[in-house]
Amino acid sequence: MAPPMSAGAFLSSLRAAGVTVVEVGDWRHHNRNHKGPWGPVHGVMIHHTATRGEERTVELCRTGHPDLPGPLCHGVITKDGRVHLVGYGRANHAGLGDDDVLRAVIAEKTLPHDNEASTDGNRHFYGFECENLGDGHDPWPEAQLAAVEKVSAAICRHHGWTERSVIGHLEWQPGKVDPRGFTMAWLRARIRDRLK
Ligand SMILES: [Zn+2]
Repeated sequence: MAPPMSAGAFLSSLRAAGVTVVEVGDWRHHNRNHKGPWGPVHGVMIHHTATRGEERTVELCRTGHPDLPGPLCHGVITKDGRVHLVGYGRANHAGLGDDDVLRAVIAEKTLPHDNEASTDGNRHFYGFECENLGDGHDPWPEAQLAAVEKVSAAICRHHGWTERSVIGHLEWQPGKVDPRGFTMAWLRARIRDRLK
């Protein structure tokens, strides 16, 4: 059971991790807390946006769209490795997922295959959207991957979690394919090395 970090602590921990942070608008108070609870937090979820173009991608993640209002994550990691903070609190990124997966994340055990959409993930996960088309061809620059690794490790370090608390959307919600272009096992190994 971990209460979410304050927005200030979140910002400080990302900066301490050595990433370039861009604060977008009133990100500290832009959230969906009026729609449901935020916390306790149990992990970090990684996504791809299926979009191209930094400005457009950040704006979409901040405002969302009519069917899914923003923020759509907490931080948008663009191809240059910058982390754009678009919201803080409950965000529309994880949706409904598998309660067995959530239990495995909490226990930091091997994840079961996700086959249920029964549990509110927006309550329990920090979320990062990464600018990538998700077509399996669009490259993931090293600067971007390094930023994903650093922000994930920073949050794990704050909460005393291992790399097993970092999952991909595709491991949470049946039918999701993101992030595509690397494996979460590979990313978790990088995060594990950084946490040593
Ligand atoms: Zn996603």
